[in-house]
Amino acid sequence: MVVPRPELHWYEKLYLPSILGGLSITGRYFFKTLFSLLSFDRQKRVTQYYPEEKWTLPEGYRGAPVLVKDEEGREKCVSCQLCEFVCPPKAIRIVPGEIAANSPHAQIEKAPQSFEIDMLRCIYCGMCQEVCPEEAIWLQQGYLFNGYTRKEMVHTKEKLYEMGGQMQRPIKKWKNK
Ligand code: SF4
Ligand code: SF4
Repeated sequence: MVVPRPELHWYEKLYLPSILGGLSITGRYFFKTLFSLLSFDRQKRVTQYYPEEKWTLPEGYRGAPVLVKDEEGREKCVSCQLCEFVCPPKAIRIVPGEIAANSPHAQIEKAPQSFEIDMLRCIYCGMCQEVCPEEAIWLQQGYLFNGYTRKEMVHTKEKLYEMGGQMQRPIKKWKNK
């Protein structure tokens, strides 16, 4: 299919109107920002004194993915690896494990032996949350992560559970126990 290219008028070929239009928008925002910085009225300011001032995140904001436990503190993840498979940038690495034979829940399901999310790769897309059959992985509101090394930016299973905490949801792998 050939998409027809519209003919430019002579004044469009000068590019001058477009340049002036762009400069006028830049100038408008320059003065708006300048006056807002001088303003003591917080409502009028367009800048924010981050990190002292934090955003008010909208409901449904998707921050970092975390793992959650159920209301009794049991792991919901069954290490099915669906999230690892679907993750577009391959940020998730799971080593499936077994629940110890002497555990009262040993016969129910698997649990991850290790579960890592590389936050330098994660694009916060939410696909892992969408596919999880156990509602074990969620994108929560946290977005503030930093570290001095790449290794520090890889969230381990312990850290993911620490960030996720407990969550009461209808899907429970333990319901037959
Ligand atoms: S939010 Fe997206 S990129 Fe991040 S771990 Fe989940 S699937 Fe991967
Ligand atoms: S978090 Fe969900 S999708 Fe990922 S391995 Fe665990 S149960 Fe499967």
